[in-house]
Amino acid sequence: MSVVRNSLCNGCHACYSICPWNCISMTPDHEGFLYPRIDTLQCKNCGLCEKICPALHREKQKIQPDNLIAVINNDAATRKISSSGGVFTLLAETVIRQHGAVFGAAFDADFHVQHDAAESIEGLAAFRGSKYVQSSIGESYKACKKRLDEGQKALFSGTPCQIAGLKAYLQSEYTNLYCLDLICGGASSPKVWEKYLAYQKSIYHSKPVRISFRYKNPNWNPMYMLLEFENGVRYVSKNDLYFHKSYGYGISLRPSCFQCNFRPVNQGSDITLGDFWKIKKYFPGMYDRYGTSLVILNSEKGKELFEHIKAQCKYVYINSELSKEYARTTFKCFKGRHRNRDLFFKHLDTMPFDTLVKKYTDYLLIFRMLLQKIVRRCFDKLRKPMNVNTMVEK
Ligand SMILES: Cc1cc2nc3c(=O)[nH]c(=O)nc-3n(C[C@H](O)[C@H](O)[C@H](O)COP(=O)(O)OP(=O)(O)OC[C@H]3O[C@@H](n4cnc5c(N)ncnc54)[C@H](O)[C@@H]3O)c2cc1C
Repeated sequence: MSVVRNSLCNGCHACYSICPWNCISMTPDHEGFLYPRIDTLQCKNCGLCEKICPALHREKQKIQPDNLIAVINNDAATRKISSSGGVFTLLAETVIRQHGAVFGAAFDADFHVQHDAAESIEGLAAFRGSKYVQSSIGESYKACKKRLDEGQKALFSGTPCQIAGLKAYLQSEYTNLYCLDLICGGASSPKVWEKYLAYQKSIYHSKPVRISFRYKNPNWNPMYMLLEFENGVRYVSKNDLYFHKSYGYGISLRPSCFQCNFRPVNQGSDITLGDFWKIKKYFPGMYDRYGTSLVILNSEKGKELFEHIKAQCKYVYINSELSKEYARTTFKCFKGRHRNRDLFFKHLDTMPFDTLVKKYTDYLLIFRMLLQKIVRRCFDKLRKPMNVNTMVEK
């Protein structure tokens, strides 16, 4: 028995974490996504899991941001190893310096993606860099609550649905908690990731020792996938034809990502981070070869945390009109499931990974996406130009 229909469940672990009788387990389905399963023999029917489930209480929480901020961490070395402008590191270091704990998504020894905690600046390295695979929350909500109840500060970072899950689990506001979410385009199946790694291991006859989904070679755009193997081989691929391609086409995403209720901006988080892809067009001066972060401050706590890092970065506030326009055109989730998605997962266990991706991501789709882009550009050009007033603070 489950808590919510699989197509809606985002696997946030709120129900698993809150069950007082520990009778909910998180179990992978045939696609490799974790879903809650209730042990009906142990269940006392208290209803707590259903009461707090963010997917069952999908009231619209979306807000349009008033102000976006383009931000670049002054430290080029950190920028280079982060996904965009390296803002996560600055925010997390601030909390660590206040003797707080930071929660984020890290690789384990076998490159599975899971949430963990860090209490030192060195410990933050594991969280740096986007991993385009759904991370398992495990015991992290419980560990975060324990620290908050003890009076320690905590910064919890994750996808918007994971932040919604944490808030649902906590059930009360904590002044010592900072929530940081990402402008998330969706999370890939951990099983697809495993199959990709197995494929790469079989090609290079070695196991990976370092992986980056966003290797800057030498710029952040286009994206490169990096895998370094134990035998010294380096796989560096522009828009990697296998994992990145399956992610880019949305074919490997969790079903709930296609009807995400937590994007673009969820009121639950204090700060939202993303990639400022169009920065070169809007503010050439804020373009950086290693990347520019997009920051949204959603609460007073978020604003206060940002004050702490201002001296360590270069930033520009974007006016409200342009912010809304940018959010409207950029913060979108995938519209509908990929038409070959079911076939892709049906053959995931049996077909070689390269053949699978080639076969089920077709050219017709690229053509349609290109056409949509051209039509959108034409519409943009026809509309009157916007008055772009910005305030450059630094
Ligand atoms: C699955 C996913 C999809 C994304 N989609 C978009 C998008 O469509 N548009 C956009 O503008 N930005 C997107 N981002 C955000 C973007 O890639 C950067 O994370 C963001 O710009 C912050 O970069 P940074 O340089 O400040 O810090 P970094 O050091 O790169 O930040 C790392 C942060 O991401 C968290 N993180 C990494 N992997 C995961 C994961 N699997 N699950 C949860 N948290 C994770 C870490 O805990 C840490 O908080 C996505 C991120 C992820 C993880």
